[in-house]
Amino acid sequence: MAQKDSGVLAQAVQAVEANPYEMFKTQVRLAGKKLGLSPDLLAIIETPERVLEVAIPVRMDDGHIEVFTGYRVQHSSVRGPCKGGIRYHPAVTVDEVKALAGWMTLKCAVVDIPFGGGKGGIVCDPTKLSEGELERLTRRYTAMILPLIGPNRDIPAPDVNTTAKIMNWFMDTATALRGEPMYAIVTGKDVAVGGARGRREATGRGVMIVTQEVLARLGKRVEGIRVAVQGFGNVGSVAALLLHQSGAKVVGVADISGGLYNPNGLNIPELLEYVEHSPKRLIAGYSAPGVSAIPAEEVLTLDVDVLVPAALEGQITERNAGQIKAKIIVEGANGPTTPEADVILEERGRIVVPDILANAGGVVVSYFEWVQNLQYFYWDETETNVKLAQIMRRAFNDVWTLAQEKRVSLRIAAQILALSRVAEAIRLRGIFP
Ligand code: GLU
Repeated sequence: MAQKDSGVLAQAVQAVEANPYEMFKTQVRLAGKKLGLSPDLLAIIETPERVLEVAIPVRMDDGHIEVFTGYRVQHSSVRGPCKGGIRYHPAVTVDEVKALAGWMTLKCAVVDIPFGGGKGGIVCDPTKLSEGELERLTRRYTAMILPLIGPNRDIPAPDVNTTAKIMNWFMDTATALRGEPMYAIVTGKDVAVGGARGRREATGRGVMIVTQEVLARLGKRVEGIRVAVQGFGNVGSVAALLLHQSGAKVVGVADISGGLYNPNGLNIPELLEYVEHSPKRLIAGYSAPGVSAIPAEEVLTLDVDVLVPAALEGQITERNAGQIKAKIIVEGANGPTTPEADVILEERGRIVVPDILANAGGVVVSYFEWVQNLQYFYWDETETNVKLAQIMRRAFNDVWTLAQEKRVSLRIAAQILALSRVAEAIRLRGIFP
């Protein structure tokens, strides 16, 4: 990292650990500086267009009413309708949602799909809610944000702890309230109600594709490489399975319930089978010959070739970046690495394939789902996977080439590419009035 950047970084580092929105702004300022972005454009891109906070009263199963707080943030609509998931988590804050919305804008720009960025969240612990409570929470939240969203305005999707079932309820509620079919208002639905074939696996598949690409640039093959995956949800479990099927050895995985390690490679299909049948869909309690239980945080520092953080933001920090042994880090999660940790990883010669590129597979197939819903014309899974791979490979190549040309990290290159596309759209459209 160049000396002149350390000022911007130093100011922000204190706040970064606790605040993802500060982290987003720091990243944008660093890349904006390299790009020579004007302060006017920077000011526009740093700040979300709209922030909505809603109160969501829910009748709980025991009869009492609980009021949950929810958000929908629209970061940018200059390149198209806002797009991004909805997160159900006790640690959701407005600043987290603002950061995640901003990353969506950049992500859609890196892969060059016609969307801006948005994100939503509800402060709740879904593991403590019954199915009925979860449905009432989802339907009321949908009603509360409905005035701002729509197929041409803002299109939600799944994120941490939100599933196809939740997206189905979301679509059904919007349809009931608007009085006409609203398939294209949300993506990530089940296939029977307008979901795209391959959407569930898309983020993990994208992670696998960029892992293949980065290994190829380094003259390596996937066969036999050692991988550790943090997070075993929709992204981590699929990435682990596809990498395993491509011949990689997934030696470590972790989720909120703990970690598992097998130096000879875990049997990922068997582990997935176990998780699917465990009540909370966690890895805790799994055992097999050669597998040892490890503390969850140890998965980040295992002796592997590739580390895939696929859980929450702020996992690789200045405290553990020095101990990371993986040569390559492929960010399945949004914002898993703090700017301070980025500096340490770069100094140590680690290659980070950044979130806005590495985990873009999900939103790319969301784009396909939206197109199919608007046209009522559905594709088979092969078509989805072929087109997804084309987009991911093209974006990877654009970012890799720019990083070589400008002698910057893949993160800075991805940010520069995204920012220049967003800035160009702002310039061409002009400022109203
Ligand atoms: N939540 C996912 C993400 O962070 C998917 C968003 C979408 O499909 O709109 O990229």
